[in-house]
Amino acid sequence: MKLIIANWKMNPETEFEAINLAKASDVSGLIIAPPFLFLEEVKHSLKNAKLAAQDLFWEKLGAYTGEVSAEELKSLGVEYVIVGHSERRALGETDEMVAKKVKAASDAGLIPVLCVGESAVERASGLTEEVVTRQLLSALELLKSLISNSLPFIVAYEPLWAIGSHNPATPQDVVKVLQCIRTLLKHLTLDLSPFVIYGGSVDALNAHDFLKEKEIDGLLVGGASLKPDQIIRIVEISSLF
Ligand code: PEP
Repeated sequence: MKLIIANWKMNPETEFEAINLAKASDVSGLIIAPPFLFLEEVKHSLKNAKLAAQDLFWEKLGAYTGEVSAEELKSLGVEYVIVGHSERRALGETDEMVAKKVKAASDAGLIPVLCVGESAVERASGLTEEVVTRQLLSALELLKSLISNSLPFIVAYEPLWAIGSHNPATPQDVVKVLQCIRTLLKHLTLDLSPFVIYGGSVDALNAHDFLKEKEIDGLLVGGASLKPDQIIRIVEISSLF
């Protein structure tokens, strides 16, 4: 079974619209990541889809104005959390912060969706695998001695140049990078059960090309997830594989 994650980013504008979007997209096999503000109402609107958050903070509680902890998310019924999205890294999130967030999520029993991916410049310089390897190793650094049981874990390969650009990577290129990610995870001593997925300008028209690849365990969908007919179609396609 493939994973489809809908990243709504900072959309929609009102709770009313969020509830309507959630109800219209509520199919099993979908994981929806609304803005923090709408998590609770979206949760109440869902009967089939599961709930994700778009970020978290690594401390459990205390004087951290504006932050949201893994425990707080858990208490709302959140099961997954996106960590290290490139749009957050662009605002200053470092590899070290990402590592703390991955650890906090795992410690609280949230399934991390760790985003990795290279920029256009890095790609043009042939650095894709190097960048992805660095991001992955540093994000998992704090987990090494701490997790002994099998932890579901999702890595989303999201090349920056493909996000929101209508210029997706080719399935062949994605498969190559995903193989590199899997090999790396296998070499680490962590007992992870990784799902390795792709994100970047996926829509209902190109989803089949990615999902038919057995190396690609699923998709992280941004823009197209705001259109219920698109995301439902993507979930339908995913159920074929
Ligand atoms: C994303 O932001 O994670 C993403 C994949 O966006 P889009 O589908 O719009 O490229």
